[in-house]
Amino acid sequence: MKRCNAKTAYYFLLGNPVDHSLSPLIHNAGFQALGINAVYLAAPVEAVDLGTAVKGLQALAAGGCNVTSPFKEAVIPYLDQVAGEAKAISSVNTIVNRQGSLYGTSTDGEGFYHALIKAAPDYCLGNPVLLIGAGGSARAVAYTLAQKGLKELYLVNRSLEKAEKLSALLQEQTPLNRCHTLPLTGAGLKEALTACYLIVYSLPLDAGEVENALSEKDFNGDGKLFFDLRYSPAETMVMKAAAGVGAITHNGLGLLFRQALLAFELFTGRAAPEEQMELALKRYLEKEQQDGRI
Ligand code: NDP
Repeated sequence: MKRCNAKTAYYFLLGNPVDHSLSPLIHNAGFQALGINAVYLAAPVEAVDLGTAVKGLQALAAGGCNVTSPFKEAVIPYLDQVAGEAKAISSVNTIVNRQGSLYGTSTDGEGFYHALIKAAPDYCLGNPVLLIGAGGSARAVAYTLAQKGLKELYLVNRSLEKAEKLSALLQEQTPLNRCHTLPLTGAGLKEALTACYLIVYSLPLDAGEVENALSEKDFNGDGKLFFDLRYSPAETMVMKAAAGVGAITHNGLGLLFRQALLAFELFTGRAAPEEQMELALKRYLEKEQQDGRI
């Protein structure tokens, strides 16, 4: 990072916790590669201070921020303008300060789609997709895939009510034709795993139900694509179970990286220097691995 001065623009990550975040590394590598006089910092915020922190972006004339768990929905009331999709899915992960007016949007869904295409360039959204989870990230992924041409979705969630709410939203606002909603427990999960070639896992923990269904003797995951949106550990228990039955697995690093590229472009108005940003991330992860921290 070049030396900061009175003209340095600043960007933040708002969330709690944020000390694990790789976003500062990715964005600062981008600023450096393009010679932009800007800095990106992670700011842990208490829930009671969220409004003050967001309004502080205006007071400090910050360029903007990313928003992470648990505030992606809670920030919305503090914004001056929210993009249609982010409003629909009630999730904002990027705020841009447009001359004092705070504009919120979400790059999570598009980031996931870019990660998917990078991992499987020929993937066809004509096939049904299984999405496990109905939280903020699942809503972003489902909405974007449906906008991009997905016609049939299997939606599995612990709370069926939440899955049904998401299903209604998708069928009302996107071209999605069919959405099967299923609880996490029961035979439906295995049927959905069998019916779909793309499986997106968006729970914050390893669900035993999913591990068990994947590990059933007669289940064949050959050629299936299994994305866990988490990236720490690099291989989660459900990813291991999916790989064990032949699926090709990916963690959430692709999503993290690609949502960051899109946010960077919104912040700076410039194409993100993808290669340099990726190299910085790769070097960091290699070092962490060498030192046994991941
Ligand atoms: P949310 O809190 O919005 O959603 C949580 C989901 O997990 C809900 O579907 C919830 O079900 C379910 N859930 C929570 N606890 C349990 C449990 N004990 N048993 C079964 N289901 C449970 O989280 P997000 O959607 O924001 O994030 C989900 C994951 O994706 C996180 O691990 C997050 O780190 C990761 N993520 C990664 C990103 C990246 O850049 N790689 C970006 C965004 C998210 P219910 O509705 O029943 O409560």
